[in-house]
Amino acid sequence: MADTYQTLIMPGSLINGQWHKSEQTFSVKNKTNSEIIATLSNAKPEDMETAVEQATAAFAQWRNTTGAERSRLLMAWYNKLMEHREALATLLTLEQGKPLAEAKGEIDYGAGYVRWFAGEAERIYGDICDGLHHGQSVNVIKKPVGVVGAITPWNFPNAMIARKAAAALAAGCTFVGRPASETPLSALAMAKLAQEAGIPDGVLNIVTGTDARKLGKVLTQSPQVAKFSFTGSTRVGQQLIQDCASTVKRVSMELGGNAPFIVFDDADIEAAVDGAMLAKFRNAGQTCVCANRFLVHRQCHDAFVSALAEKMRTLSVGDGLDAADMGPLISTQAANNVHELVSQAIAEGATCDYSRKWDNSAFYPPTLLTGVNTSMRIFNEEIFGPVVTVTPFDEEQEAITLANQTKYGLAAYLYTQDYTRIRRVADQLDVGMVGINDAAISNPAAPFGGVKQSGFGREGSKYGLDDYLSLQYRCLGGY
Ligand code: NAP
Repeated sequence: MADTYQTLIMPGSLINGQWHKSEQTFSVKNKTNSEIIATLSNAKPEDMETAVEQATAAFAQWRNTTGAERSRLLMAWYNKLMEHREALATLLTLEQGKPLAEAKGEIDYGAGYVRWFAGEAERIYGDICDGLHHGQSVNVIKKPVGVVGAITPWNFPNAMIARKAAAALAAGCTFVGRPASETPLSALAMAKLAQEAGIPDGVLNIVTGTDARKLGKVLTQSPQVAKFSFTGSTRVGQQLIQDCASTVKRVSMELGGNAPFIVFDDADIEAAVDGAMLAKFRNAGQTCVCANRFLVHRQCHDAFVSALAEKMRTLSVGDGLDAADMGPLISTQAANNVHELVSQAIAEGATCDYSRKWDNSAFYPPTLLTGVNTSMRIFNEEIFGPVVTVTPFDEEQEAITLANQTKYGLAAYLYTQDYTRIRRVADQLDVGMVGINDAAISNPAAPFGGVKQSGFGREGSKYGLDDYLSLQYRCLGGY
């Protein structure tokens, strides 16, 4: 489809099928050159309240649609997303900064959830079983929970909305989403395409504005919102869980990570290096499942480090629309934060094995640190930047202990060719997802989510609808 991304830039929130306009506005910038791409109406808490009311009204009809009807509409939305893949990807690169090839990958990935849940909409089964005596039966049915409120981060502006909204709609819930103010354009473009696909007014609402706290409070505290889903940092997630307590909502949280990437001495080093490049440098290191700590067996440490440094030399950094391998971080402030972690680690004894000159901009250079130990901040915090940190180990159990030495439990990666070790190690890793000799773990068919302070709830897979459905048990007697 020969459309341009401009046709997908909307003026502001979509509430009950209407594009919201207001005098108060905010700008969205191109993350590569800081030019303004769009100026949007800035929603106020009252607008969010309206969206929740409209979603509540729309729920009365949407909950009564059949799975087949919802499936058909979700497939129509999927087809629209794929038809406009190029334009959506360009918009995503502009507002987020990731390279165009990665942005196209995100469009496919996000649309993949829409397609997946289009299928799942038709597979919502309950149970029927015997009662306690003749003439009685136990019927368990699944009902949509109601209005879903969601808040998403800037690192995957398309896919994070897709995997929540598609699940909610498939279950028969209506949806009010608030994307991050740095990257609202992708969510609005997706909402426009949902409208074109025939998804009824009020079923999918997107509210964009800069006052994250006040807009979020409407979603977390409204008694009309039955379920709240958040993807973002653990710090903000903790606050939002508390906010949801007053109305005892269903809550799911996809929070931060501190993924270990374990390379054993029997690993295929070439495969491990390829996996490391993917797990570390995708989105310039700004993903929740990014490898954050490389734990490398001392026997293969030097070989792994030198092969990885060699590959890192080839990474081009620049404008995502110009085929660079890596774009900027989300802001100069984000790059400063990463630099502070790196500088502190070096001051505390880490060695910088590879980097390039940093010009104090948002483009942080690929950097490789060795000799990182457990007392350093960089070992314990989510780096969210293109920095590899390597910590050597000698024993298998030591690697497992190091891997679990974090409050997070989202993803882990391990590279080994010993299949008995794979089972042994994976069993002991306290994480929700394990990549084994593979770093491309995200897949709509798989349950995405974490344990510990990485959150709870799963997105995608056959389990992905559970958070959006409530069970009703009917004791059927008298027959
Ligand atoms: P963040 O600061 O927690 O922000 C996430 C979202 O919450 C944004 O929409 C933000 O809005 C909003 N927000 C911030 N403060 C809020 C408040 N007090 N009340 C209500 N909403 C609030 O996280 P981020 O820096 O954007 O994203 C990076 C984090 O997300 C990382 O920790 C990463 O690991 C995590 N993440 C997790 C997953 C996963 O699936 N587990 C996936 C992607 C990212 P504004 O941006 O407009 O302030």
